[in-house]
Amino acid sequence: MRHNFRKLKDSFGRYITYLRLSITDRCNLRCFYCMPQADFNWMSPEKILRFEEIVQLTRVLARMGVRKIRFTGGEPLVRKDVVKLVADVNDLDGIEEICLTTNGVLLDALAPELFQAGLRHLNISLDTLRSDRFHAITGRDAFNQVWQGIIKSLDLGFSPIKINFVMMQGKNDDEIVDFARLAKRYPLDVRFIEFMPIGRHSKWGKEYFLSSDQAKTLIEKEFGKLISIARNKDAGPAEMYQIEGGSGRVGFISPLSHRFCSTCNRLRVTADGRVRLCLFSDLEFGLRDMMRKGISDSELSDFLSDIILKKPARYLTKKSDVPSCDRQMSSIGG
Ligand code: SAM
Ligand code: SF4
Ligand code: SF4
Repeated sequence: MRHNFRKLKDSFGRYITYLRLSITDRCNLRCFYCMPQADFNWMSPEKILRFEEIVQLTRVLARMGVRKIRFTGGEPLVRKDVVKLVADVNDLDGIEEICLTTNGVLLDALAPELFQAGLRHLNISLDTLRSDRFHAITGRDAFNQVWQGIIKSLDLGFSPIKINFVMMQGKNDDEIVDFARLAKRYPLDVRFIEFMPIGRHSKWGKEYFLSSDQAKTLIEKEFGKLISIARNKDAGPAEMYQIEGGSGRVGFISPLSHRFCSTCNRLRVTADGRVRLCLFSDLEFGLRDMMRKGISDSELSDFLSDIILKKPARYLTKKSDVPSCDRQMSSIGG
């Protein structure tokens, strides 16, 4: 009998239509705020979800109503089969949008194949336009490669291209206006992201914290009043604005404000195949071992329907008012 794949709906009536899938925990950068600097162990390769497992999981989720899939990492472009993964997942019935979040280091080399595979939506993380500072933040000398990757992606016609800039007082706050200028000059969505306390070894501290409102004030001082862009129903967590006469747009992401929990449509899966129901909850459910034992699509769908009922209404408050989680960002993927 044909299985009836139920829509993925949580106990608060929110439909899950967006999967953020980490396809590796490895990375070719060592951003100080994301990776621990010492006692760090990569997951062993057999722990990482295999190609066929990712295809089974995304096929089932697509039947359950997931329409958008974001590949992330670690750094997704260090995974050898990333282009084929993009192509195969993009071909699944029901999937309308494939996106990828990258540090951009391998983009110059891989952008043409990714475009060919059907990828159009790119998020590129970049926290500075200064080569020496890039090294200080990421531990590697790769600014020029990333910049070439951005230009190549613009030339090839990727759209939208979003630049993610994590704001850190005393580290890169003096470049906020320069990044806004990028959005004026190029058709890029530059998004200013508040630094979040993620991971047991997080370098997060109040002294680094800079709010979206502070960044907006700095930008308006330089470019005049920003013009608010109305949110559509599928809008992400960014509040988007137009700069007068600009080719691109600027946006502000305030993860700590949690204004969008009531319309949260997302699910995260870590590189080792564990479902996270909320970024700030360490409650996880492993899928990998069941898939390795040969779970059928219908059984996997029933399991997902059950666990989604445990998705919290909003982040679970811990000891303090500032939400956090133990798992490090590089294995969740943002
Ligand atoms: N390696 C890819 C990259 O850097 O784009 C994808 C994974 S990375 C974990 C995803 C995003 O998370 C990046 O934009 C990164 O800047 C952001 N990120 C990492 N740690 C963060 C933190 N503590 N607060 C805010 N954003 C963070
Ligand atoms: Fe790697 Fe991305 Fe984390 Fe930087 S933010 S260390 S590029 S995973
Ligand atoms: Fe969704 Fe949790 Fe983020 Fe709120 S904090 S938007 S519930 S993932």
